[in-house]
Formats: sequence, C-alpha cells, structure tokens
Amino acid sequence: MPRIDGRAAHELRKITFQRRFTTPAPGSVLASCGNTQVLCTAMYTDGVPPFLQGKGQGWLTAEYAMLPSSTAQRKSRDKSGKVDGRGVEIQRLIGRSLRAVVDLKKITERTLWVDCDVLQADGGTRTTAISGAYVALYDLLKHMEAKRLLRAWPLTTELAAVSVGVVGGETLCDLCYAEDSAAQTDMNLVMTGAGQFIEVQGSAEGAPFSREELDRMLALGEGAIRQVFLLQKSALALS
Ligand code: UDP
Repeated sequence: MPRIDGRAAHELRKITFQRRFTTPAPGSVLASCGNTQVLCTAMYTDGVPPFLQGKGQGWLTAEYAMLPSSTAQRKSRDKSGKVDGRGVEIQRLIGRSLRAVVDLKKITERTLWVDCDVLQADGGTRTTAISGAYVALYDLLKHMEAKRLLRAWPLTTELAAVSVGVVGGETLCDLCYAEDSAAQTDMNLVMTGAGQFIEVQGSAEGAPFSREELDRMLALGEGAIRQVFLLQKSALALS
C-alpha cells in the first residue's frame, strides 16, 4: 500500500537543520522534518542545581513546548500551574538523550539549557527536537570552547532520533501525523553515532506487537538514523 505522501517504507521526509536561525542563543537551529518544524536553541548559565553543587561538574536540562498555532486545533499554553504531562515526558526524554552524549565533568559548574519549541507539528516532534537539539548543542559547545569555558571537548559521540511504527501491518519509518494517528505501534528510537541505543520507546497503540515486528522496527529505524547522522554532519560542515 502506498504511503500517504508516496514515500517508501524506509524513506525519511525531507530533513534540514538551519543553523543560526535566531541570534541571541549560541546554538539556534530550525530543525525541519517534512511539515514538522522545531526551533532548538542552546544556551548556558553559570551554576548548577543544588544536588550538583560543589561536585565540580555541570548539568544539562531541556524544555519542550508546542506553540498554540503548531496544530490545526489550537493547543493552549501551559498556564496557571496546569502542566502538560506529554510535554514534561518529552522534555525529560530530550534532556536524558543529550546527557547521554555529554561528559558533564568537562563543562565545569555551568548549566546547559536546551529549549525545543515546536512551530509546526506533523508527527515526530520529539525525534526532530532531539536531532536538532544535538546540532544546537554542538554549536553552543563550540562557542564555549572558543571562550575557553570548557575543560575539554565534552561530546562523546553523535546523537539522533527517528520514529518508526507499524501502520496497516507495514513497518514504516518517520511517521507523519496521519500515519501516527493510524499506527498500531508507535516507536521512538534514539541512538548514538557509535550505533548504540539511548532510548527505545515502543508502545502498542492499537494492537500488541510481535518480536519480529520489534526487530523490523529496530532495523528500519537504525538505517534511518544513519541518514540523519549524515544530514547533521553536513549541516555542521563536518566530514
Ligand atoms: N498532536 C497534536 N496536539 C497535541 C499533541 C500531538 O496535534 O496536543 C499531534 C502532532 O501533530 C504531533 C502528533 O500528534 O506531532 C504526534 O504526537 P506524539 O505525542 O506521538 O508525539 P510526536 O510524534 O510529535 O513526537
């Protein structure tokens, strides 16, 4: 069965990382994946949260939100203490994923802030946020390195993410919203440049999935993530 936008099962949407998208943050990347667009910025502040004070290491934290007009049905802002549980879950995933590739001892007692704001949502906002956040973090760390704020280069490997899923019995990568909302299984994969897993979030939405389907999703996702690494490298002008 052809996909809604004519892609092959393994084909990603068009992915771009537009660096220096805004000027105040040393890392500022508009990450696009088809119609999904996420602004990922990275900045630092002096100091660390209380549980890390005096330990001689830094911290990295992430925040994620969707703009009200990022979806056709207006998404109301978090206000008057009403917390968006989905957003909290996603920002913790982004922070954990980034911390997995940063040696926090190398950044001294500073906090790195990564903000991911969804301008337009068409599925895969968390995976687009993670892949874009890596590029923004890279730019921030280069800025800090130039200012001699780092003990040594803190990134240990690359980081990227993709979604995969089973839709109508077919294993597909990088689901758009129409596919995501019809998926029997929805999976988000976060991996390192060394080919190791950082997070595998797979959930049966409609029907439980088999071991064979899980293996197929992992294989498809791994191949797709390798393509994202190449796109990140070329955006960063690294060979
Ligand atoms: N979505 C929406 N409103 C919401 C949450 C999600 O319109 O409050 C849409 C949006 O297009 C999003 C998609 O549903 O990209 C899939 O959401 P999911 O929670 O699976 O996360 P994502 O795939 O964006 O990481």
